[in-house]
Amino acid sequence: MINYPEPLRVLIQTLGQLPGIGPRSAERIALSLISWPRQRVEEFCSGISDATAAIGFCGTCGCIRVDDECRNCAALTESASSGAPLLCVVEKPTDVLSLQRFESLSGSFHVLGGKISPSSGIEPEDIAIESLRSRLEGLHNPEIVFALSSDVESEATIHFIKSTLSNTGGIRFTRMARGLPAGSSLEYTDEVTLIHAMENRVRVD
Ligand SMILES: [Zn+2]
Repeated sequence: MINYPEPLRVLIQTLGQLPGIGPRSAERIALSLISWPRQRVEEFCSGISDATAAIGFCGTCGCIRVDDECRNCAALTESASSGAPLLCVVEKPTDVLSLQRFESLSGSFHVLGGKISPSSGIEPEDIAIESLRSRLEGLHNPEIVFALSSDVESEATIHFIKSTLSNTGGIRFTRMARGLPAGSSLEYTDEVTLIHAMENRVRVD
């Protein structure tokens, strides 16, 4: 790297922490930022600070939460009172954003925060299965629909959750229909494929 002054070097290193930003991009952005008017820089920084301070994650369902009361947790109570409690199990909070476009899917989401992968050291206790069990308590004949990407870790996770919760009784386990490209992540799957996969969900054997 060119022998930049210390503050510029720190700025490049800081920007390099962003996902998808390599050293060259970080350098380019830093050189652009230092030419911005002071006020524009301050607005940019407070935009990041305000947004990240206002957004949190629900300790119960793992979804992104903006208000004091979690809307996603409230949605489970609503779907239970309509007689068809549904919990859609996903890996990441951003998967919820991809799937929230389906207004036909009335229920609540549950974010696992990962998938079981012994080769990567992710064991069942590392993902949010106990909180899933707690959320199911008191629900009458709930449906759990697995909306996970197509890979070996998802299969292991589905199998484990189903066998762990099967003694709870009365749960209908379903999954999105096959059709997602192997190894694909929900956020990069087109809307038509996602809708088809969700509407044609099938029972987990
Ligand atoms: Zn919640």
